[in-house]
Amino acid sequence: MKTLDIKITKATTSKLETVDINNIPLGKAFTDHMFICDYEDGVWKDARVVPLDTIPTHPAAMALHYGQAIFEGMKATVDADGNPQLFRPADNAKRLNFSARRMGMQEIPEEIFVEGLKALVNIERNWIPKQDGSTLYLRPFMYADEPHIGMRAATHYKFIIIATPAGPFFKERIKLWAEKQYIRAAAGGTGEAKAAGNYAAAIRPTEIAKSNGYNQVLWLDAHEHKYIQEVGTMNIFFKIDGKFITPKLDGSVLDGITRKSVMTLLKDFGFDLTERRITIDEIIEAEKNGTLEEAFGTGTAVNIAMIESIGYDGGTIHVSDDNPIGEKVNNTLDGIKTGKVEDKFDWMLKVTK
Ligand SMILES: *Cc1c(COP(=O)(O)O)cnc(C)c1O
Repeated sequence: MKTLDIKITKATTSKLETVDINNIPLGKAFTDHMFICDYEDGVWKDARVVPLDTIPTHPAAMALHYGQAIFEGMKATVDADGNPQLFRPADNAKRLNFSARRMGMQEIPEEIFVEGLKALVNIERNWIPKQDGSTLYLRPFMYADEPHIGMRAATHYKFIIIATPAGPFFKERIKLWAEKQYIRAAAGGTGEAKAAGNYAAAIRPTEIAKSNGYNQVLWLDAHEHKYIQEVGTMNIFFKIDGKFITPKLDGSVLDGITRKSVMTLLKDFGFDLTERRITIDEIIEAEKNGTLEEAFGTGTAVNIAMIESIGYDGGTIHVSDDNPIGEKVNNTLDGIKTGKVEDKFDWMLKVTK
């Protein structure tokens, strides 16, 4: 097979010297280049790496009006020898295409997704922080840029990848707010797609939760407001009486790549793990009888976020003061991504020059 032809235009200067990549929070600074590919006339074309710049947008670009916009989030790290590598990139490609189908958008060949990532990471390899816990966050996304008023699937799309260095996350233990008024997703809706619109609907409830002293919202089901779905940008795991449980994918929960990796690791550690429906009452009950041992969120941005407590219905569920297994999972995942722990599940893809 002919490998994808990606045209490279190098930036004349680099901003790298002006940024302390080991200490900057995710999303504040962007690297020198971006990858772009256009879908027009029924084909994906003009795959290219160009200097990062603004993009002229027609005011009728359909993404702005009808919300056809989806994204991915992933990280580049360096292995023990300093070579860039990616964590399970083909899974992100598959999920972007899953999201594209749900939103009536064009799928992109997995090869363009993965080769585009590799080309960008290769050219930005000096932007990958070497410090423990720091990474280069990659944001592949797609949106409808056809100028058209009228509700239908667009015929022009842009697929773009940008990159932002991310210093180590301050790992505070988080407090969640279990939300009974607003919902994130219902089966049959778009909750299992990584769609920009899902986030738009979550912003206001999240701002309210934050103003009340919580870090993120714990979403409950749309009908009975009692089944736990997930946290803002993370899936959730509980350890009760020695066993792990996580909400099953029921069409309203995002199929996290960290979630599925954590499931593999927990089983590998010998834990009992079940995917099933979990009620908030069950968590309250476990707290009361002293069997609620750990809870943590899982997602690319933070890996594992340890949960301290959950506010619900005027009360507080205190989960735990420490997360020995959450820490073990976190360290193992980090270790695999940085070449310190054997990659026995074959998750890493090396980016060669
Ligand atoms: C991206 C995302 C996650 C986590 O997925 P990962 O692949 O682990 O990063 C969880 N929930 C939602 C709503 C998300 O958008």
